[in-house]
Amino acid sequence: MKLDKHWFTEICEEGGSAFSLKIRGKLHEERTPYQTIAIYETEDFGNLMVIDGFIMLSSRDNFLYHEMMAHPALFTHDRPRRVLIIGGGDCGTLREVLRHAEVEQVWQVEIDERVTRLAETYFPELCEANDDPRAHFHFGDGIQWVRDAAAEHYDVIIVDSTDPIGPAEGLFTEPFYRDCHRALAPGGVLVQQSESPLYHLDIIRGMRRAMAGAGFDDQLTLTFPQCVYPSGWWTATMAGKGRSLTRFREDDAARRPFPTRYYNEATHRAALAQPPFLSEALARE
Ligand code: SAM
Repeated sequence: MKLDKHWFTEICEEGGSAFSLKIRGKLHEERTPYQTIAIYETEDFGNLMVIDGFIMLSSRDNFLYHEMMAHPALFTHDRPRRVLIIGGGDCGTLREVLRHAEVEQVWQVEIDERVTRLAETYFPELCEANDDPRAHFHFGDGIQWVRDAAAEHYDVIIVDSTDPIGPAEGLFTEPFYRDCHRALAPGGVLVQQSESPLYHLDIIRGMRRAMAGAGFDDQLTLTFPQCVYPSGWWTATMAGKGRSLTRFREDDAARRPFPTRYYNEATHRAALAQPPFLSEALARE
């Protein structure tokens, strides 16, 4: 990370690239027991949250990521009633999940309570559903939570984590996916942020291998734009327990009674399309 007076820059060594945002100033920085969290005010992207030097989200473009972490998985499931979010402390994914009326309970398990408290201050729009009585907050390790979970308890598990280093490393491993598989009811869906399709194919391949090893029947990697992340292009990988992932409730998605800015039934269908370089790389497994 390089920072001069007017720019925040995140360097992506493995991609040989960098991304910069023009900033007005730093609003906050603190070291928690888990990580260093910084908040900046930018010129054109609203507020920016950075953890350990890596951009987590900006006010301007987080809708792309949060909508694609929530809606494809929820519209793939036949009737998602019980949802678990691991990580996701900024609460943007939670807000999208709570838009689904058939969801009865959502548990959010975030290791670092400070991420949520800072989101309440600097990204209040993402936290506007936090008082929904269906939402339950637990601040602790998501790996342990899933290890302790009752069998077949959840319909959808969303892993909205940081990159596979530090406290999030274990969220990309076969033992964790085995616990998720056990905690999902038959027909359940797991979805996890899976980094850049251009820079991180090894991570995506490793995740899918681990998900298959854990017993998931089908995996599908969705791509979508996300300009503040390395390469500007991102993925979410879904895994199904006893179900296919290419069919979804298209009519319900088309008639959704809530606003979205990126997700609709057409962008969902488009995200299912696999570019040749991706399907060829994944087929080599
Ligand atoms: N969209 C973001 C991205 O991909 O850059 C991720 C946003 S969200 C802020 C990620 C959250 O995962 C962080 O708040 C972090 O504290 C949390 N996290 C990391 N490891 C975790 C674990 N083992 N259990 C629960 N939460 C974890």
